[in-house]
Amino acid sequence: MTDADSLARRVREGDLRLHELEDHADHDTAASARRQLLEADTDADLEAIGSYGFDAEAAESAIENMIGAAQIPMGVTGPVSIDGGAASGEYYLPLATTEGALLASVNRGLSVLDDAGGVTARVTKHGMTRAPVFRVSGVADAAETVEWVETNGDRLAEAAEETTSHGEVIGIEPYVVGDSVFLRFAYDTKDAMGMNMATIATEAACRVVEDETPASLVALSGNLCSDKKPAAINAVEGRGRSVTADVVIPGELLEERLHTTAAAIVEANTRKNLIGSAKAGSLGFNAHAANVVAAAFLATGQDEAQVVEAANAITTMDTREREQAAEASESGDSETVTDLYASVSLASLEVGTVGGGTKLPTQAEALDVVGVRGGGDPAGSNADTLAEVIAAGALAGELSLLAALASNHLASAHEDLGR
Ligand code: NAP
Repeated sequence: MTDADSLARRVREGDLRLHELEDHADHDTAASARRQLLEADTDADLEAIGSYGFDAEAAESAIENMIGAAQIPMGVTGPVSIDGGAASGEYYLPLATTEGALLASVNRGLSVLDDAGGVTARVTKHGMTRAPVFRVSGVADAAETVEWVETNGDRLAEAAEETTSHGEVIGIEPYVVGDSVFLRFAYDTKDAMGMNMATIATEAACRVVEDETPASLVALSGNLCSDKKPAAINAVEGRGRSVTADVVIPGELLEERLHTTAAAIVEANTRKNLIGSAKAGSLGFNAHAANVVAAAFLATGQDEAQVVEAANAITTMDTREREQAAEASESGDSETVTDLYASVSLASLEVGTVGGGTKLPTQAEALDVVGVRGGGDPAGSNADTLAEVIAAGALAGELSLLAALASNHLASAHEDLGR
């Protein structure tokens, strides 16, 4: 087997190209040769990048031209009790980030959520989408194409589902813009995030559309999907999983643990997350859902670029009044306590527990921490659980930050943690 020195020499001599090294050596040696070349070319010392703790071959389907690994600190939050459609019981959520104070904040929120009796969470919609764009000669052909698709959905679903043993077509929504026809295919991709699965399945269906209609395929992805771009369609129609987590927190707990009140948190949420976001023309109406989504994605091997739409969330907070026996009252008088209703709805959370980066060693271990590595029984239940746990984490992050704002503790928390 070739060593790194001779591989690097052959690249310098023009005998090999940088991406061809795995054809001539094992993956670790190839990565080592690339580091050697880069160190010579750039004067960079790549010792830390080269100190990774997994077999480079395990990353073959995740990276090309590998030189090592970017290591991001991973911590854990929880446990929190979750009553979900799939999740049930106590869950830890591993998070990978370089933002100090994030895990402390999420953990504080989760602890309060747990003391409030735990989080309720449900995935309310599934649908990983791929929307090819077709060319037609004009609107008459566009209408003919749409009509054919609407009456032959079964044929398209059959062609698509022949390519996968797990994916199921949920719907095909046509859109016409002049002489362009878009078909937004939505799939239940079970435990896979499903972007590859949906792409392969949609390609098979497109061949049937081209055979049976005047439409010609221009691009398998016509951006109405919409993958990795901020887009209202995902916020409205959903993508991947639409998931909501909510809780009612007793007023006493808010005062004791978060040193604030339901009314103060509701005001902070209304003025910041709702009015401020509306004024900004924001697609998301939340405080920092992206923090939890991104850190959970990095820890568990999700496609990090999908944070663009996966973090699109609306946070709602409201007061709920409760009557209880007045303290120190012997006459049976009651008093009103104001509790907090809090929710986070993530419209387009794309997560999977099989495929993609979930197979990598640290990411797979992180999925084990949540208890969702690999395919679920029934299929889809592991990815649903992961979505519900991430939603609970996002709710904790929202609660903790809004409570900090409401009690003016934000600046001092960052100061205390050395930022
Ligand atoms: P994948 O790694 O391509 O495939 C996952 C496959 O696992 C499924 O197709 C399915 O095979 C199989 N599988 C086994 N058990 C399963 C279960 N319980 N539930 C569902 N599937 C199960 O993963 P993917 O989620 O489709 O795609 C993720 C990858 O796509 C990531 O690497 C991401 O970076 C990449 N990506 C691609 C695009 C694109 O446009 N192509 C865009 C963004 C991201 P069967 O289908 O045979 O049943």
